[in-house]
Amino acid sequence: MEVIKRDSRCLTAKGGSWELNEDARKIICFTSSGELYISSSHEKSYWVLAFIDKLRRNNVKFVIKPVSIEQIAQLYSSNVLATDSVVQSSGRQEEVISIVRDAVELKASDIHIIVRENVTHIKYRVDGELRQNQEMSENDGNDICATIYQTMCDVAEPVFNPRRSQDARLMSTTLEKCGLYGGRIATRPTDSGLLMVIRLLYDRGSNNLELEHLGYTVEQVRLINRMAARRFGINILSGPTGSGKSTTLECVLKRIISQREEKAHVLTLEDPPEYRITGAVQTPIQCDKNDDDAVSKEWARAISNAMRLDPDILMCGEVRDLHSATATFRAAMTGHGVWTTVHANDALAILSRLDDIGVSPAIMTDATLVTGLISQVLTRKLCPHCRKPWHQHAHLIDDAVRQRIEKYCLTGQVFFRGEGCEACGFTGINGRTVIAEVVEPDDALMDIYSHQGKNAARRYWVEQLGGLTRNHILIQMINKGIVDPCEGERDVCMLDDDDVVGLYRGDDASKN
Ligand SMILES: [Zn+2]
Repeated sequence: MEVIKRDSRCLTAKGGSWELNEDARKIICFTSSGELYISSSHEKSYWVLAFIDKLRRNNVKFVIKPVSIEQIAQLYSSNVLATDSVVQSSGRQEEVISIVRDAVELKASDIHIIVRENVTHIKYRVDGELRQNQEMSENDGNDICATIYQTMCDVAEPVFNPRRSQDARLMSTTLEKCGLYGGRIATRPTDSGLLMVIRLLYDRGSNNLELEHLGYTVEQVRLINRMAARRFGINILSGPTGSGKSTTLECVLKRIISQREEKAHVLTLEDPPEYRITGAVQTPIQCDKNDDDAVSKEWARAISNAMRLDPDILMCGEVRDLHSATATFRAAMTGHGVWTTVHANDALAILSRLDDIGVSPAIMTDATLVTGLISQVLTRKLCPHCRKPWHQHAHLIDDAVRQRIEKYCLTGQVFFRGEGCEACGFTGINGRTVIAEVVEPDDALMDIYSHQGKNAARRYWVEQLGGLTRNHILIQMINKGIVDPCEGERDVCMLDDDDVVGLYRGDDASKN
């Protein structure tokens, strides 16, 4: 008599991840340990051949075990877990909802489910850092992933396959229960199991999120407001992945919409829309994301198409290559206000990046066309209740770092990250702040950039236009006890960055 292995489950049972219909279940039973029991008198039947074909197409390994129909019936009835699996599946869904809600409560940006041999870790990314949330068995982890993928998502492929990379999105009923706007899911097999990452996208609704709250200085907000008030021109935002660029663009677009009393047609092209922007028409880029060439052409096509949709303001998710850059600049040249992003390290490096992509220098250094260059990074803010003052911690840090802090900061006002307390959930952190550079180019700056290069243009920006470098802003934040200098150096820049290129001008507060 065949007996299903102790912790093996019957996946073809009702509610199982390879569920079969009632007729097929009479002659097929597939288990989580890879045994495929089939009725020996039905080896060539349609159901059996179709099921074997499906397993092969999904690269699932299995061993065929011919048995009698009675034995298959016994396998189903002896596997208690399987007969309970419908109930279990809805129980699993509840478990998933509670995991996601916990993450939402902590304002996590991502949930990581890491299934390994013998154990599953569930971690949340909060304020840019991964935090361990809970542990469960390997089986429970696999079940959770299968439940999410197969019963709580809109998916391209109907069957969850832990041996392949798959993408999905949380379905709207799931999102409603968790209070989210969207949830993107990616999975990948690992050497010892499976990784599933859920990116959580929040609906901030009409919450008045302002640039000032993100960490932009009063002067920077004034400049961005001027950019937002222009009827045409291109404004480009740069920053590493996860630096909050979408949040900044969302703030800017909401501001434009309210400034113009909702009389402006604001159209976005996004891959995919990350936040709902009330008053804007948001459109996703649709193409095969695995095909770079197709993605590139689709961006350019979407921008050209958008021009015919009569926008006043166009937000174009990303300038990624010459195709999309050309289309984006054409949009700005034909009298539209354009906001977009590129990958670049500082505000003026945006021009160098456009140059790399192949945008004509005459176009990208036209200050009437390129009206704004912004770069931003995020760094953590210290919990004011448990941060540690200079004298308690300075002796523990690296000599070189300490010397830079002593040279550029006011040590009496410097604080370090504490051990954590109740107020900060024992993390030592109180959210994150943007550290940005905002450049409103003028003719002279563009001229210097063209003839003398980026560093000369940066010098002109600081000395003649009063530009605030991220190095300068970081030192101000450290001197206010908001940012740990060691974390600031890791996230933003070295404290002597400006000094080594002769741009250091001291903190306005006192130190010179
Ligand atoms: Zn604290």
